[in-house]
Amino acid sequence: PDTITVQELANRMAERAADVIKCLMGLGVMATINQSLDPDTAQLVVEEFGHNMKRVSDADVEEALVVADDTDEQLISRPPVVTVMGHVDHGKTSLLDALRKTDVVSGEAGGITQHIGAYQVTMANSAKITFIDTPGHAAFTEMRSRGAQVTDIVVLVVAADDSVMPQTIEAISHAKAAEVPMIVAINKMDKPGADANRVKTELLQHEVVVEEMGGDVQAVEVSAKAGMGLTDLEEAILLQAEVLDLKANPNRVADGVVVEARMEKGRGPVATVLVQRGTLKTGDIFVTGAEWGRVRALIDDHGTRVQEAIPGMPVEVNGLNGVPSAGDDFVVVESEAKAREVSDFRQRRIREQQAAAMKKSALENMFTSN
Ligand code: GDP
Ligand code: MG
Repeated sequence: PDTITVQELANRMAERAADVIKCLMGLGVMATINQSLDPDTAQLVVEEFGHNMKRVSDADVEEALVVADDTDEQLISRPPVVTVMGHVDHGKTSLLDALRKTDVVSGEAGGITQHIGAYQVTMANSAKITFIDTPGHAAFTEMRSRGAQVTDIVVLVVAADDSVMPQTIEAISHAKAAEVPMIVAINKMDKPGADANRVKTELLQHEVVVEEMGGDVQAVEVSAKAGMGLTDLEEAILLQAEVLDLKANPNRVADGVVVEARMEKGRGPVATVLVQRGTLKTGDIFVTGAEWGRVRALIDDHGTRVQEAIPGMPVEVNGLNGVPSAGDDFVVVESEAKAREVSDFRQRRIREQQAAAMKKSALENMFTSN
């Protein structure tokens, strides 16, 4: 519901909260400074003070961010976005490092890599794959809990000498809940105790049926350490991507998702954004979560400054006014006024939710303490 606290209402009218409370008393409403007022009461107060009130609802503000859908003719193929999951020590980080080294572009540039939370590999045939560089279930579920659909394909890493373990099963259930297709990477095939068949058989018990067992899940034998099977894995990913028919319109204002964000000394807030639609350009004004900004610089996963980023491309964005959260949306808007309006609105909503949560826990404490 679109309520507003007495304090917030006072702030927005640039009046003293005490005067607002006095005014409410005159209207027969006994209120405290943190009390929430319904829109009708708020309107009465605003009129008493001689201000005009423009009611902006949740839907109005959020609606302004929704741009019309693209037509089929505008859509072109985009790279798949891949998240690597699996049991601890089965080789997620090693595999991500090994895959990164298969990038032909960074090979040419001297192999300088920046860890910005995601990277893109360009293969010899110029096909591209985007990897989310923060392996693990936490990042995946955190983003999903914020409603962000980032991952197209999950690579499930299972060590061939250890087979299916608790976090393997957990990863399977995450992927299934998100309805994201899986590819199994049977890792550590260089080890003496490696047994790919055992992995495939044990996966059956968790309803992951690989092709060799008559199912439709691709399984690829790899060794992150020996650099074995990496191209096979990438080809499996591209095949799956083809089945998914992943497309986006690059010729529109950009939107995407924040993959990672932090405050950096000397640079201020920076965020790694995965562009999902449109083309993100220097100078663009955007809203992200409850923050907004203007793109001052875009830096790619090689640490190179770029002028723009197309769908599937992760870029580090400079020029934010605050630090958003992983999983927040990132939407380019037409004006600074619009950006401010949406970010103000979202900040206010967050404050209200925090106030409500504090009130709730204060009440709970009252009832539990003795
Ligand atoms: P994570 O916890 O899933 O990220 O696993 P790591 O990538 O940190 O790997 C855990 C350990 O397994 C490290 O000691 C790696 O060197 C080792 N490791 C990873 N991949 C391979 C592999 O393909 N072969 C062998 N022999 N060891 C590997
Ligand atoms: Mg790791």
